[in-house]
Amino acid sequence: MESDLANLVPLLRKGTNMLVFTGAGISTGSGIPDFRGPEGIWKRRQPVYYDDFMRSEAARVEYWEYKLEGWEAFRNARPNATHQAIVKLELAGKVVSLVTQNIDGLHTKAGTSPQRLVELHGTNSLVECQTCSKRSDPEPHFDAFRKTRRPPACPCGGFLKPATISFGQNLRNEDLERAEAIAKEADLVVVLGSTLSVYPAANIPLIAAGRGAPYVIINRGATKHDSLPEVTLRIEADVEKVFPEAVERSLSTT
Ligand SMILES: [Zn+2]
Repeated sequence: MESDLANLVPLLRKGTNMLVFTGAGISTGSGIPDFRGPEGIWKRRQPVYYDDFMRSEAARVEYWEYKLEGWEAFRNARPNATHQAIVKLELAGKVVSLVTQNIDGLHTKAGTSPQRLVELHGTNSLVECQTCSKRSDPEPHFDAFRKTRRPPACPCGGFLKPATISFGQNLRNEDLERAEAIAKEADLVVVLGSTLSVYPAANIPLIAAGRGAPYVIINRGATKHDSLPEVTLRIEADVEKVFPEAVERSLSTT
């Protein structure tokens, strides 16, 4: 632990243009379940594919049932020390761009600037019309669904869906392009709480590392990039036990 910190702190001090890439592992401490983990929801439920959602009322009901099941946890979740540490770096004047696979909205709640944040897999904090793309607050839609069990619709007639990327749905080009542009500028890349097993998201850190930026991975459990020569520092630990402390030390003047 001390040696991990001793290696990480100078990298954080030196980095002026950081890419922080986050995954589900940083939000478990906020009570958000890791969907792909051993206790993940996909072990109990069949995923609803996007094409089925668009085609079938039964699939839309199934999808909204699943989202309703997780809604309370999402709505009540609060950012933890890791989310806050990333904001501290930004407030200290570092250029910190944040690319996340998480859909929990906790980086926004913690105070990360929207223009510095790319939510590659979308967000649960908004509902989006699949026809006119209008976005709205999820709460009234969940309230209505709880009562009627009918999937909500937009005034335009389009189907409403939480603004996340569903199974079988491509990432938004605009988000991917923003993330790639960030990776091409970064002088340090830090992965927090991701197994780096979901593509194309997992390519983003490699774009930065491939240009020679130091590559740090902090995760509990193996990641798909562990054996790559680009990795500068691999810390096997809960992110919350290492990263906030490392940020504090890197920002202190003593
Ligand atoms: Zn609409």
